[in-house]
Amino acid sequence: MSLTQRILLAMLFGLILGAVLQWADLPQEHFLSLYFLDGLIDSGGKIFVTLLKMMVVPLVFVSLVCGAASLGATGSVGRLGGKTIGLYLLTTAMAVSMALCMALVINPGLGAVDESGEKAQYTAYEAKPAPSVKDTLIGIFPSNPVKAMAEGKMLQVIIFALLMGLALSQAGEAGARIVSVFNDLNSVFMKMITMVIMLTPYGVFCLMVKLGATVGLAEIGKVFVYFITVVLALLFHACIVYPSLLKTIAGLSPRVFLPKMKEPLLVALSTASSGATLPVTLRTVQNKLGVNNNVASFAVPLGATINMDGTAIMQGVATVFIAQYFGYDLGLAAYLTVILTATLASIGTAAVPGVGLITLTLVLDQVGLPVEGIGLIIGVDRLLDMLRTAVNVTGDATVATVVAKSEGQLDLDVYHDPDAGLAMDEMSKKTA
Ligand code: ASP
Repeated sequence: MSLTQRILLAMLFGLILGAVLQWADLPQEHFLSLYFLDGLIDSGGKIFVTLLKMMVVPLVFVSLVCGAASLGATGSVGRLGGKTIGLYLLTTAMAVSMALCMALVINPGLGAVDESGEKAQYTAYEAKPAPSVKDTLIGIFPSNPVKAMAEGKMLQVIIFALLMGLALSQAGEAGARIVSVFNDLNSVFMKMITMVIMLTPYGVFCLMVKLGATVGLAEIGKVFVYFITVVLALLFHACIVYPSLLKTIAGLSPRVFLPKMKEPLLVALSTASSGATLPVTLRTVQNKLGVNNNVASFAVPLGATINMDGTAIMQGVATVFIAQYFGYDLGLAAYLTVILTATLASIGTAAVPGVGLITLTLVLDQVGLPVEGIGLIIGVDRLLDMLRTAVNVTGDATVATVVAKSEGQLDLDVYHDPDAGLAMDEMSKKTA
């Protein structure tokens, strides 16, 4: 069986087992709850996510130093950076605009009712204060790169790696020697992440058992129309908008692209964290889609940090939902504000589970909507988080591929080869 098939099976069996455990409704002190669910399964899932996270800083740092060193030699950093950031912002603004339009047609806030048929009640939600734009901007620059790495502050690590790579490209022979060490290290880390990826079926199984055992489907009934609107908007963005961008801007076939994204998509779904999925995305973009390390090492980590189209979609629909629920009438200016703030909020959303809901307060505040409304959608957010993270990750890979094609940094033979990158999986399976 291929790795993807094994991951899919693991997801399915995990969900079924989890659902059975939820149905059995075991008491907390039952040995299955204590030792199986909270013990073995919970630890297995956490260890898998930790192993993925373990790879993020070393992989991003080393591969970006290599990428920046060769970009420095060609002098195209500025152009590449401009294109990548521009496309990330554009796709996010498109995502939230489309989500607003869809929500305004479907009107999700008009049908939020409890089982009794009465207007649904929300649970108390306390908003956390958001950092100021000035602090966020200053916070991109590391005062201590070691601390930035230790704390996993991705934008700071990206800035340091970029500067170091550029300096290496200008440091003559000494620079070339160090770049060659970094290139070797990069191959080693790529190998390491392949080893971790081999554990994906087991990790995903544990995560899915936990999800199946804990997720409350009853909550969906209350805000069913909101849930469906977000899902539809996410599907539209992933299946229509991204493929159109690939086709029109880059002239690439989307039919080739999506099947190659299976692994990062499944990991994103199970972890609900584009940060934890980052090593898998980076590996797929390089080895399976054929994006050169120059572009991938910069575009993918940057995307995982600032590009959250799926999150912006949820925020767009949630804003309309909350406005309608509380009876507010938002005008055109308010919707434009939502597009702008949701795009900025997506930059500030950390690539970990559930943060999109916290940055939603920024958007609601801007247009004067009550943040308590979040209490209404919090119950279904875990499931939506999985789906929007998958869209976030697809967006990163799409933009990286489009930018690479425009820069002549896409290996078309690899892109069109359905088996590209599979040899690496096979090799690792044997080593494991
Ligand atoms: N979980 C999302 C991600 O990691 C962020 C969010 O929307 O909460 O991409």
